[in-house]
Amino acid sequence: MSGKIGVLALQGDVREHVSVLAELGAYPVEVRRPEDLAGIDGIVVPGGESTTMALLLESAGLRQPLADQLRGGMAAFGTCAGMILLARQVLDGRRDQTCFGVIDISVRRNAFGRQVDSFETDLDVPELGAEPVHGVFIRAPLVERAGPEVEVLAEVDGRPVACRQGPVLVTSFHPELSGDLRLHDLFLKGVG
Ligand code: GLN
Repeated sequence: MSGKIGVLALQGDVREHVSVLAELGAYPVEVRRPEDLAGIDGIVVPGGESTTMALLLESAGLRQPLADQLRGGMAAFGTCAGMILLARQVLDGRRDQTCFGVIDISVRRNAFGRQVDSFETDLDVPELGAEPVHGVFIRAPLVERAGPEVEVLAEVDGRPVACRQGPVLVTSFHPELSGDLRLHDLFLKGVG
């Protein structure tokens, strides 16, 4: 599948996602204004700072049109802060923080175990084969609840760190930083 894929480009690690998508044969477009949403088949919501991205989504006029497209069933891949933005419920967020609610998980910001900063670990992701995925966690969100419709693709200490619900894929780590293209490839396979 080589669709036109938006990368929300208000803040965060946009360039890394753009280059992985291009490497996989997709057509990435940076999304900064509502017009940029036209004709995209899916969107990547990158890591960064979810509270800042929520404010910028509002001021750019992107929140409502993006919410409409997501609720219409558009494929999405959220990494770290992107996971927070796509979740049903955000704990320890700003009170007015946007969450698009397209994957039935509750996430707590900056609360991954006692590791509030960064760590790296190899993850078993059976969906992607025997070779582990190297997970880079940077002030990662903790998934405290995953609803019955959510498939958990990987865990750390019994906590989900990669989840999928229909065309929506989220990871609490940063696959765009590890040089492993398999999770982006999995996302692109779900782009209809
Ligand atoms: N802690 C950030 C937030 O709450 C997420 C960090 C990240 O994306 N690396 O948005």
